[in-house]
Amino acid sequence: MIRVNQLHKSYITGSNSLHVLKGLDIDIQQGEMVSIMGSSGSGKSTLLNILGILDNYDKGEFYLGDTLIKDLNEKKAAWYRNKMIGFVFQSFNLITFKNAMENVALPLYYQKVSRKKRNRIAMEYLEKVGLTEWAHHLPSELSGGQKQRVAIARALINNPKVILADEPTGALDTQTSYEVMELFHEINRSGITMIIVTHENDIAEKTERIIHLKDGVIEKEYKQNHSIRYA
Ligand code: ADP
Ligand code: MG
Repeated sequence: MIRVNQLHKSYITGSNSLHVLKGLDIDIQQGEMVSIMGSSGSGKSTLLNILGILDNYDKGEFYLGDTLIKDLNEKKAAWYRNKMIGFVFQSFNLITFKNAMENVALPLYYQKVSRKKRNRIAMEYLEKVGLTEWAHHLPSELSGGQKQRVAIARALINNPKVILADEPTGALDTQTSYEVMELFHEINRSGITMIIVTHENDIAEKTERIIHLKDGVIEKEYKQNHSIRYA
């Protein structure tokens, strides 16, 4: 599903260059649920943005399925993003003046799907995340966990192959975090590959495989063979 070979990425600001990813190799199979760990500034978001085709890289290769994702023009990048990828963020990134249903429907709005049709589909996805009754509420009227469920429904609406989640539980309390991880497991059981960036051990432990980033490379990774438990 995802194959990364010798990936390099630097940021250039003014006369400074910061080498963040220094020859990273990763293979993720379709249907896996993986967490990516590492201290703050280790390049987790940088990697996720590249995997989500939101940013370019300097050297190496990134294959999404059979396609080499490299130097795509914005139109092609958007096409692959829409077809393959759903994003979930720590800060939910909901539009404050749109209700839950409209937020979920947003990707379809950009694809010029009619209002009636996109709202109907959005309601199906709100049902999947257990928020039917909150469809007409604004984000400000929802709890953190509910907001993240809206964001997850929005990430699912294009039927992606992969969900990329950047610190998805970073703004949630422990119990709500576990509920979000349970929802991720449910989504993963439907065959969607899940990649979750986190710096929290107890979140990473809910996934099958943990990858540690350090100094721009993979420091270590391991599979967990114990069954995943929730508090
Ligand atoms: P993490 O998500 O692991 O905390 P990031 O990938 O966000 O780390 O950042 C890695 C390093 O790159 C940090 O030192 C950060 O300051 C720097 N960085 C991230 N994004 C940019 C950017 N757009 N321009 C310049 N430097 C950046
Ligand atoms: Mg980050």
